[in-house]
Amino acid sequence: FLPRLIAALEQVDKTYIMVKPDGVQRGLVGEIISRFEKKGFKLIGLKLFQCSKELAEEHYKDLNQKPFFPKMINYITSGPVVSMAWEGIGVVPSARKLIGATDPLQAEPGTIRGDLAVQRGRNVIHGSDSPENGEREIVLATLLLTRKHQRATSEVLQSEQNPYLDHKTTALWFKEGELCEWTPIQQPWLIE
Ligand code: UDP
Ligand code: MG
Repeated sequence: FLPRLIAALEQVDKTYIMVKPDGVQRGLVGEIISRFEKKGFKLIGLKLFQCSKELAEEHYKDLNQKPFFPKMINYITSGPVVSMAWEGIGVVPSARKLIGATDPLQAEPGTIRGDLAVQRGRNVIHGSDSPENGEREIVLATLLLTRKHQRATSEVLQSEQNPYLDHKTTALWFKEGELCEWTPIQQPWLIE
């Protein structure tokens, strides 16, 4: 069972998508989920969730020197978010395209931000910027790691720097057991 699961997981990328508190407050959750569903990606995790300051700071730690960082952390923690994991071949860059540019005024019409928002500080949605961050943002449990990442993990475990032993970086938004492996009935009509 385990090798089969790992082999299946290895084929596809995962991205962490989050409807930010403004999207939840404005009633855009259904609209946003619908865009990813209609595109043909597979939903493997979904929850309404109040994000802590610690989690928000860890999630956005690459930006912690930016002047907008404190305001952005307040924004992300100002109400519940909808956390989602989506799976599919090429899902990470494709989701970024569906989402549109960071600044909604620059985002193309037809994108989520281009259609539904006007300010960077209220841009309704997050999407992972790389497959590695997709994995990091979803869950870094051994079971859910691809072989590539397992190799990387074992190398890291033997090295001095060991981010995987740092509790905060091992599982950001989902816990093991919160994701579902399933086969949508439409799959043969989406993927040849
Ligand atoms: N952000 C902001 N002001 C800025 C740049 C970014 O408030 O000048 C916020 C915005 O909500 C953005 C988030 O910080 O979505 C993360 O920034 P990033 O550059 O990673 O943009 P994203 O990947 O979300 O498009
Ligand atoms: Mg980003």
